Amino acid sequence: MEKARALKILTDLMAINSANDHEGVVADYLTSLFKQYSVQIVRVTYSAGRDNLVITIGDHGPLLGFSGHEDVVSAGELSNWQTPPFTPTFKDDKIYGRGASDMKSGLAAMVVAMLDLLESGKDLPGRIRLLASVGEETGEYGAAQLVKEGYASDLDGLVIGEPSNFDVRVTHKGVIDYYVYSQGVCVHSSTPEKGKNAIMPLISFAQAAQQLMSSHQKQDPVLGSLTHVISQIHGGSQINSVPDRAWLSGNIRTTPLYPNQQIYAELERIVADLNEQGAQLNIRYSFPEVPLPDQSGSKLAKLARQVVEQKIGRPSQFTAGTGATDASEYIQAGDFPIIILGPAAGTTDHEPNEFVEIAAYLDGCRLYQELAWEFWNSNI
Ligand SMILES: [Zn+2]
Repeated sequence: MEKARALKILTDLMAINSANDHEGVVADYLTSLFKQYSVQIVRVTYSAGRDNLVITIGDHGPLLGFSGHEDVVSAGELSNWQTPPFTPTFKDDKIYGRGASDMKSGLAAMVVAMLDLLESGKDLPGRIRLLASVGEETGEYGAAQLVKEGYASDLDGLVIGEPSNFDVRVTHKGVIDYYVYSQGVCVHSSTPEKGKNAIMPLISFAQAAQQLMSSHQKQDPVLGSLTHVISQIHGGSQINSVPDRAWLSGNIRTTPLYPNQQIYAELERIVADLNEQGAQLNIRYSFPEVPLPDQSGSKLAKLARQVVEQKIGRPSQFTAGTGATDASEYIQAGDFPIIILGPAAGTTDHEPNEFVEIAAYLDGCRLYQELAWEFWNSNI
C-alpha cells in the first residue's frame, strides 16, 4: 500500500474521538475500508454507540487473530497539549494526537496489513481475524463479550497490537480491584452501645488482607511478586456520630503463581469470618483481570521475534508487563498462544502529546503482514 494511504488510515482513526465511548464510529470507519471485499464482517454491539467489530479474511487454513482496541483514554487537560488531541499532527517524523501510540497505530497497522493481503491477489493459505474491541481502557469488557460470544474460540494464535516498541511481550500481571462495603447502625456517639460502628470491621479486614497478601512470597521468575495496596478508605459523616457506612478499596496485581480464583476465595474467607463475628461486610470486584502466563516457549512468540529482527530489521526481546491487556480476556477463550506486539514505543501512553514515529508505524504495517505469512506457513 502507498505510504500516503496507510498514513491516512491512521490519521482518520485518530481523528475519531473514541475516548471511553463512541467505538461505533471506529467500527463504521473500519467497515467502510473492507466492505468492497468478500470478507466476513460482524458487528457485536456492547451498548448504544459502542460496537466491537470482527472482520475475518481468508476462507481456510490456520486462523491468526489480530486484536486492537477502538477506545482511547480521555485527552485530559487540553492546555497540556501542544496540538489538538483529536487533530492528528505531523511534526519531526512523528504523528501527535490521542491514540497515536495506545493504540490506533497498532490497530491501523493491522488493518493495513489485512488490506494489503487482500489486495495482493494471492491465494491466502490461512485466515486473519481482526478483533476490534470496546472499553479496553475501562475494564476490557468488549474483549470479554467477544470471548463469551465465541469469536475467539477457534483462533490458532493471537497478536495484540498494544505498543511494545517491537519487543514481544510474553507475560503480564493480572489485576483485582475490589471494594469492601461495611454496614453499621448510626447513633449518637455518647451511646455507642446502641449502634454499630461500620468503620471498625473494615480496619480488621484491611489488617487481615494485608497480612495474608504479604505472606504470598513466591516469586514469578519474570513478573516478580504479587502486590497489594489498600488504596482508599471512607467512612462516617460527623465527629459525634457512630458511623453507619464505610467502604474501602484495594488493588492487587496477581501473578500466575497466585491465580485470581485463589485470591477471591481468600478475600471472601476474611469477609465471612468477620461477618460471623457480627460485621456486615460485602465485597465487590471491579473488572478483575487474570495474568497472562509466560508465552515465550510458544512457536508464535519465537516466530514474531524472528520476523521483527530478520524481516523488519529492528531489535526485539521478550519482555513482561505490569498492566493487563485484552489478553486477560482472550486467554480464557481457548488453548492458543497470545503475544503483545506493536509498533509504537508506548512512552507517551495516557499522557498529553502522545505520539508515534511515522517510520515505526509503517514498519508495523509490514510486520503484521510478514508475521501472518510466517504464521500460516509454519502452521499448515
Ligand atoms: Zn491500549
